[in-house]
Amino acid sequence: MDPLIRVEGLKKLFPVRKGLHSMIFSRKAEYVHAVDGVSFTISKGEIFGLAGESGCGKTTTGRLLLRLVEPTEGSVYFEGEDIFSLSGRELMRKRREMQMIFQDPYKSLDPKKTVKDIINEPLSIHKIGKNRREKLEIIYEMLEAVKLTPPEDYLFKYPHELSGGERQRVAIARAIILKPKFIVADEPVSMLDVSIRASILDLMIELKDKFNLTYLYITHDLSVASYLCNKLAIMYLGKLVELGATLDLVKDPLHPYTKMLISAVPVPDPTYKREEIRIRGEVGNPINPPPGCRFHPRCPFATDKCREIEPDFNEVKDGHFVACHLFQS
Ligand code: SF4
Repeated sequence: MDPLIRVEGLKKLFPVRKGLHSMIFSRKAEYVHAVDGVSFTISKGEIFGLAGESGCGKTTTGRLLLRLVEPTEGSVYFEGEDIFSLSGRELMRKRREMQMIFQDPYKSLDPKKTVKDIINEPLSIHKIGKNRREKLEIIYEMLEAVKLTPPEDYLFKYPHELSGGERQRVAIARAIILKPKFIVADEPVSMLDVSIRASILDLMIELKDKFNLTYLYITHDLSVASYLCNKLAIMYLGKLVELGATLDLVKDPLHPYTKMLISAVPVPDPTYKREEIRIRGEVGNPINPPPGCRFHPRCPFATDKCREIEPDFNEVKDGHFVACHLFQS
């Protein structure tokens, strides 16, 4: 498959705001290492999952891919074009092709606007639709595509009059109305009731096929990722630690951190036994990440080498990459 997105050496360090006391007694600038040298490609038509615990850098990575934040270093190529080199109209044109679905449909929709105005906004910004009638036809088409039917029942409702699932459907309609090629979906079902999560995920799969979409799906939930994604990357403290085809990675995880995440996913079969990895401690400090392998303070297999030398991110099987000394000679 052709790559739609190519990410090379992407880094984002956020400066730490200091209080007066720290400014007087420490001159050293400090940074949060949110994303720290990440590279991967997303093929056309793929659902690429990016998973990890809170604070691992997955949301910042998604925002960098859409250039909603500027990088400290690195490049993101969209169909071969470096999005960080674009400005003005070129960037506006590219933005039509890349959209985002946010985690919280309560916050991402303007409470003072009706569904019609919310979905119409991208059409107005990008001057799409010759007249009101043509715009309304596009809005109807989108509401039908996200299964808010009949559309006339929803057009003049405000977000507070909708359920959580309906709100997320409006947010999805707004994201796809410009017929983008690429969507970053940042935990789009994590705020919804369990009973409606599956219907939103099924809708996303249906829309992907209907509109030839490619997704970056950000999640902390590996059961959702294994249901939805063709490829999966695991992130820890700003770095990728494992990447591969989802089935391969879930069945045969290599990195101890991935094993830990997978062993925490419940299996609906009491007779099924799998390797359990007990990890100690909590995620490290992204302002001062551990030297060597960033996972070493929590890893039951850590050696002196792990504490000193950062492992490379190597391909150990066909298309399966891992950053761990256990898989390096
Ligand atoms: Fe554990 Fe060492 Fe592998 Fe890091 S490099 S995951 S500390 S074994």
